[in-house]
Amino acid sequence: MTGMDTQARPELRLITPNSTMRRSALPLDMGPGSPALLSVSNLVKHYPVRKGLLRREVARVRAVDGVSFDVRAGETFGLVGESGCGKTTTGRAILRLIEPTSGTVSFAGEDVSRLRGSALKAMRRNMQIIFQDPFGSLDPRMPVGSIIAEGLVVHGIGDRAERDALVKQAMQQVGLRPEYARRYPHEFSGGQRQRIGIARTLVLRPKLIVCDEPVSALDVSIQSQVLNLLKDIQADLGLTYIFIAHNLAVVKYIASRVGVMYLGKLVETASSDDLYREPLHPYTRALLSAIPQAKPPLPGEPRRERIVLGGDVPSALNPPSGCRFHTRCPVAMDRCRTEEPVTRDMGGGHTVACHLY
Ligand code: SF4
Repeated sequence: MTGMDTQARPELRLITPNSTMRRSALPLDMGPGSPALLSVSNLVKHYPVRKGLLRREVARVRAVDGVSFDVRAGETFGLVGESGCGKTTTGRAILRLIEPTSGTVSFAGEDVSRLRGSALKAMRRNMQIIFQDPFGSLDPRMPVGSIIAEGLVVHGIGDRAERDALVKQAMQQVGLRPEYARRYPHEFSGGQRQRIGIARTLVLRPKLIVCDEPVSALDVSIQSQVLNLLKDIQADLGLTYIFIAHNLAVVKYIASRVGVMYLGKLVETASSDDLYREPLHPYTRALLSAIPQAKPPLPGEPRRERIVLGGDVPSALNPPSGCRFHTRCPVAMDRCRTEEPVTRDMGGGHTVACHLY
């Protein structure tokens, strides 16, 4: 282990107006009526299952099946659900790290799904990702300075000296000492490695970052440091996040709006406050009931009952008919088995897909 200062708060005010790393010009407008920076419409990602000599398609894994949501500039949109619900696939399909089967993704008014070649490369600079596994996502043979600078090289930004300056600045922003740029990933702790991953993203000054379970591989004591770092950086640079996680307590802490996914579908979307105060979808209620309460309820306050869902999440290869949640829903009705619920707007940006409403 190095003698690095893991507790140091990052220096967040190093950006000069003329720097190539200057703050995003996008407004930090998070009001309900503000335009969307990102618009995802009916996004689908199916994986064909092929068999036989002719590799005929015999089935499809419906990983993401018609997901739509907007993300406004400057907000953090949390995407939650159990593993296998399609949230990571959604994040990667938005960035076109995997090609969507259908649907559109519009970023700052431009249809990302149609971009090719240099236009797609330029868009990728604006839309970056922080991976879950801070060690697996870093090349162990490269010093961290080179890892962080890699995106700058790919995008042809700056000469050697300028890139070194940008790398130094990014390291300072995430609370890492620039003099450790020559060290290798294995010389850092898990939390420090995730800071390297964040610095690698920040150095390109993206407008949108997909944070794919960025703290779930970290010790609990380190998680809050990394979450606070992400919040500080967002406030300082006006970034927009899509924050993917299975831990609703983590999402509650960082997200301003939340979308709940189940088996490739978005079942509920609301502001973080609304969702945690008054969840509507039975699946959301069950997820929230599993969050440990920090303090016992006051006299007269209802005690939150734990809702234990029966069975496992069904396979995305053969999802249930009607409402996909009906095989586990404690309040399922007959029509839930045959009729797929449409998404209803309950007002105030709160949407839910359930026959109860
Ligand atoms: Fe439950 Fe039916 Fe609502 Fe699905 S539509 S969540 S099965 S009540």
